[in-house]
Amino acid sequence: MKRSQLAELADDADRCVRCGLCIPLCPTWQVTRNEGQSPRGRIVAMARLADGEKPDGAAAMLDSCLGCGVCQQACPSDVPYLRMIGVAKRAAGGKNHPLVTLLARLAAASHGDLILRMLLAAGRIAARLPGIGRRSDLIGMLPRPNRARQATIAAASTSDGPPVVLFRGFGNSLDQAEQGAASQLLAACGYRIVSAPKATCCGSLLEHAAQIDAAKKAAAQNRAAFPAGAAVATTASGCAAGLNAQHPAMPAIDACQLVLNRIERLPAAQPAKRPVRIILHIPCTGQAAAGATGLLEQIPAAQVIETGAGQCCGAGGITCINHRRQGRALAEPLAEAIIAAADQHTLIACPNHPCARHIERALADKGQPQLVRHPLEIFAEQWFGPQLP
Ligand code: SF4
Ligand code: SF4
Repeated sequence: MKRSQLAELADDADRCVRCGLCIPLCPTWQVTRNEGQSPRGRIVAMARLADGEKPDGAAAMLDSCLGCGVCQQACPSDVPYLRMIGVAKRAAGGKNHPLVTLLARLAAASHGDLILRMLLAAGRIAARLPGIGRRSDLIGMLPRPNRARQATIAAASTSDGPPVVLFRGFGNSLDQAEQGAASQLLAACGYRIVSAPKATCCGSLLEHAAQIDAAKKAAAQNRAAFPAGAAVATTASGCAAGLNAQHPAMPAIDACQLVLNRIERLPAAQPAKRPVRIILHIPCTGQAAAGATGLLEQIPAAQVIETGAGQCCGAGGITCINHRRQGRALAEPLAEAIIAAADQHTLIACPNHPCARHIERALADKGQPQLVRHPLEIFAEQWFGPQLP
């Protein structure tokens, strides 16, 4: 570990005045009622780690943190918790689940998403074998095949509209339905989609896995890859939050918001045959997907019910692989609330794919398997019907 990183961690931890305002908001404290599983408890451990100590249990305390950032948002002392957690986890020397290690390696590799695609293809075959699919974290966590539509993802489009890079990142680059709807809607709204072939993982996955040097490298690679003057559109709120933390001067913009900003350029919506009820899960990083609600509300006869604001689903990026029991405990009440509010025609949306997959699994565990789709997919389907323009 670099001394400068530990010195910065010590300074950041010093900003905490131990007021405890963040504690009741922390999802891991809510399920354990244990100070050691709260932001304040973790910051105390971080301060000791920064001083060169190795407090007992520090690795477990820090590894179970979801990195949701709710504590940081509530903190009156502006403690930069999300900047601290990756460094502290690394200093504590915790161990990742082998799947997390594999995903982090792939995210940092130049052809990682291609290898992941091959692994997923093999995983989907394995998932058909009795008893394997439900137990496989890799299959459950990662993007599903496009069942909704055969969307094609535009690498680039010609238009004299505002230039936009559609950020693909790592895991979400495999979700054809989400990225296809995004690229086609952005093009239909008159944006000029420009490619950034050297862009890579946003770094959030690497931060979750405490691979802080690899996360910094990814940030530098992205900074060089994004063309000057183009907006960076994201379809995953976690990626948007990760990019915004790394590139505050060039903020990522929610693709839903971009479509909403130019919605008058779309052809008229198809008339609604019946009311469209949509449950929209707002992830912890929901501030980075602020356009989702407004966009879904534009669907004729849509009723949008938000859920989850301030209530973590337990995915925490890839934290739910390291801490499956905690992830399931947090997802269960959310799944129950969705089931109670949904009927057979209700659509379920979430603008962050790890959360979407995690909620799908929780619904399946309750015997109510349902797709949780990206708001852009649902919007495109309801606005245009089966064929996009
Ligand atoms: S992190 Fe902020 S809100 Fe939480 S105990 Fe410290 S100062 Fe208070
Ligand atoms: S990031 Fe989320 S899980 Fe971690 S300490 Fe803060 S509120 Fe708790």
